[in-house]
Amino acid sequence: MKIYRIPEKISALIFDLDSTLYTNDDYVRFQLESPVRRLAEIRGMSPGELQGEIEEYRKDYAKDHEGAQVSLGNIFKRLFNIGMEETIRWREELYKPEDFLSPDPRLRETLLRLRNEYALAVYTNNPVLVARKTLAVLGVEDLFQVITGLDTCRVSKPNEISLRKTAALLGFPPEACVAVGDRYDIDLALPLKLGMGGILVDGVEDIYCLPDELFPKCQILKTSSDTPFLTGKDHLE
Ligand SMILES: [Mg+2]
Repeated sequence: MKIYRIPEKISALIFDLDSTLYTNDDYVRFQLESPVRRLAEIRGMSPGELQGEIEEYRKDYAKDHEGAQVSLGNIFKRLFNIGMEETIRWREELYKPEDFLSPDPRLRETLLRLRNEYALAVYTNNPVLVARKTLAVLGVEDLFQVITGLDTCRVSKPNEISLRKTAALLGFPPEACVAVGDRYDIDLALPLKLGMGGILVDGVEDIYCLPDELFPKCQILKTSSDTPFLTGKDHLE
C-alpha cells in the first residue's frame, strides 16, 4: 500500500473494483482476453495478432505519456473504433464474476468498519451491471451508497466528469473523498489532481488493512488537542 495523500477530514472513500476489492489474476486475464477474442473474431484475425497490436499501442502510449498506462476501453475506442455502447454490451455479455470469485467475509467485515466512518462508493471501468454482479458475488453489494461505471457517463477512467459525478452522488466535494485503487495512472492521478486523497493498493489484502491505516489518524485528530494535526504531507511516501 502506498498512501499519496489523506485529507484532514475524510467523508467518503471511492474504490476501484477490479484488483482492488478482489485479487484474482485469472479473472483479470479473462476480462482482458475475452473482448480481444471477440474483436479478433469479428475482424477475422487471430487473438494473438490483435493482442500484438494492442501491446504496440500500450508501448507507444507509455512512451508518449511518461510511462502512463491506458485502459482497454480507451484502446478499443482509439485503435479499433469500437464505440462505448458496444464495449458496454460486450462486457455485460462476456464477464461472469460468479465463475471466478466467491464471498469474501473478511472484505465484508472491513467495509462494515469503514462504513461506520465514511460513505462508500465503487467507481469502475466496468458497466454498473457487471460491478453489481461482482459485488454481489463478493457478498458486499449492500455496503456501497454509490456505484458508478463505464455506462454512468459513458466514458472510461480516468475522466473528470465521471469522477466528479461519483463524488456528487455521494454528496461530498472532491476534497473530502479518498480514491483507492490498484493503478496509479487510471485510479489515482486525476483524483489527486482534483484535491482528493489517494491510496494505491496491491489488491484486496491491502484493503483489509485500510481501517487500521485510517482510524488511528482519525482518532488522533478527534481526541487529542495536544497532538499536532497530521496533514497530507505527513503521509507522503
Ligand atoms: Mg483495478
